[in-house]
Amino acid sequence: MKGYILFFGSFNPIHNAHINIAKTALNTFGSDYKLIFIPSPQNPFKSEEELWQIEKRVELIKAKLKEGGLDAVAEVSLVETTLAKPSYTINSIKKLREIYGETSDFVLLLGEDNLENLHLWKEAESLVNQLRIAVYPRNLVQNKNYKAFAFLSPFCKKHIDRFIFLKGDLYEDSATKIRNIEIGNTPEEWANLLALRGEKAEALRQKSREIKLKTIGDKVYLRGLVEYSNICAKNCYYCGIRKENKNIGRRYQVLEDEIIEAARFAHQEGFGSMVLQAGERQDADHAKKIESIIAKIMKVSNNELGITLSLGEQSKDVYKRWMDAGAKRYLLRIESSNRELYEKIHPSDSLHSFDERLKAIYTLKELGYQVGTGIMIGLPWQTNLDLAKDLEFFRSMSVDMVGMGPYIEHQETPLYAHRAEILPKNERYELCLNVYALLRILMPSINIASTTALASLSPNGREEAIRIAANVIMPNITPYRYRENYFLYQNKLCINESNEDAKQNIEALIERAGCRVAYFEHGDSLKFRKEHGLL
Ligand code: SAH
Ligand code: SF4
Repeated sequence: MKGYILFFGSFNPIHNAHINIAKTALNTFGSDYKLIFIPSPQNPFKSEEELWQIEKRVELIKAKLKEGGLDAVAEVSLVETTLAKPSYTINSIKKLREIYGETSDFVLLLGEDNLENLHLWKEAESLVNQLRIAVYPRNLVQNKNYKAFAFLSPFCKKHIDRFIFLKGDLYEDSATKIRNIEIGNTPEEWANLLALRGEKAEALRQKSREIKLKTIGDKVYLRGLVEYSNICAKNCYYCGIRKENKNIGRRYQVLEDEIIEAARFAHQEGFGSMVLQAGERQDADHAKKIESIIAKIMKVSNNELGITLSLGEQSKDVYKRWMDAGAKRYLLRIESSNRELYEKIHPSDSLHSFDERLKAIYTLKELGYQVGTGIMIGLPWQTNLDLAKDLEFFRSMSVDMVGMGPYIEHQETPLYAHRAEILPKNERYELCLNVYALLRILMPSINIASTTALASLSPNGREEAIRIAANVIMPNITPYRYRENYFLYQNKLCINESNEDAKQNIEALIERAGCRVAYFEHGDSLKFRKEHGLL
């Protein structure tokens, strides 16, 4: 072995760009060189940096080397863990010479941003005199030229013969993949995209995130969710609060005063909107009660709080009365736009008719509601083509909002008998993220909710959906004492959270997703604002 290319870094964690840089360096120096990854236990200039356990980082480096076909030409050295902290490069080099030979040719691989202050490194002169420095550019995607040439310090200029500037599209790999993802125009093509996994799925999701940020920005709207009642006249085969489930504990209806209190909280906290959701009831008492509640919410919030209803199928007259009282948005999921599949997951009676469901969505649109619909993802018998056609359905209905989430099995429901036929949780999760991404790509200006059920598949589920595509989230503000009885599916989240906790957790979650909360905003979709001249 003639020489060694030394790649210091935190590798926290290692990613594809590191591998591309390593490959470019190996190609530049040829087969006499081996590349050594040297993960740092602590960085003298970034001591506050939070590092993962070194064992974990090493494990990930080794896995990536294998995946990138580099395991024969690259290895990991733990030399820095044996030295006093902070570990200066010059000390590590001394130690590496003991290991790899005093006369070995060493090349130090450095990002261009290090050049500016290189003269301040410990024993900088001695360092550049004993090795060469291969420089790789930062942010090549945005900037194809080295920035470093513009600010080469006198120190670097003096030692310019020691520097080699690596050429090649180091970051091109993933960027090209993003650009090359063809979306196509047919559900068949979309179904293939939904099947993507790994790096290709990442590229799809990255494309969605870019479209989201470009079109609607990084704002996330909050809707305080009140699960008003678990009383339901229907018997959907998947749902835990279906009428025939006698094992759900108490049937309840939140008291009017408690709803008004929740509305006051949402309004004061700047949530902008709230959602009233419940089982379906079509009786006159119920319609009247809701009408009165809507009017009171409007009053207590000076007509400022937006109200979304999610109360199932109703007559045109009832929808109209609720609208006149002040509700402007309605969420009615089609559940699946495939009639056959819809019929398999519902009883076959007039109360559960696909045509009636569809008609109700049309009625809501006709009345001028901002209409949201949605589906469950990962139902038994559901194919990727079904899901792709659901996306086409959303487009053809020109909806303002989509609220969709994974199907989660519930023990006390008929569909539980088919639990062996559904995707395992991790697969269902991957599929959900792809459906979110593709929806955002196909309908860039609508509102997309990151729904609670995602949290039942992965602890990061809701923030991932926001990072990729969603821009609405519904913190649960149902009075505490009712929560355990609104049990649509197993492992439902937020049962033990107070309203304040919910608010703080959601804020942190949105921040982790690289987005920000839009307080005191109604949060109408960009699509709606455009169509109604509100921009
Ligand atoms: N009764 C109203 C609203 C409450 S149910 C209605 O049905 O429209 C709200 C949503 O919960 C339903 O649309 C359904 O998509 C979802 N849901 C019910 N059971 C579920 C389950 N087991 N897994 C995931 N979502 C479920
Ligand atoms: Fe009732 Fe809605 Fe559940 Fe169907 S999904 S049983 S309508 S609450």
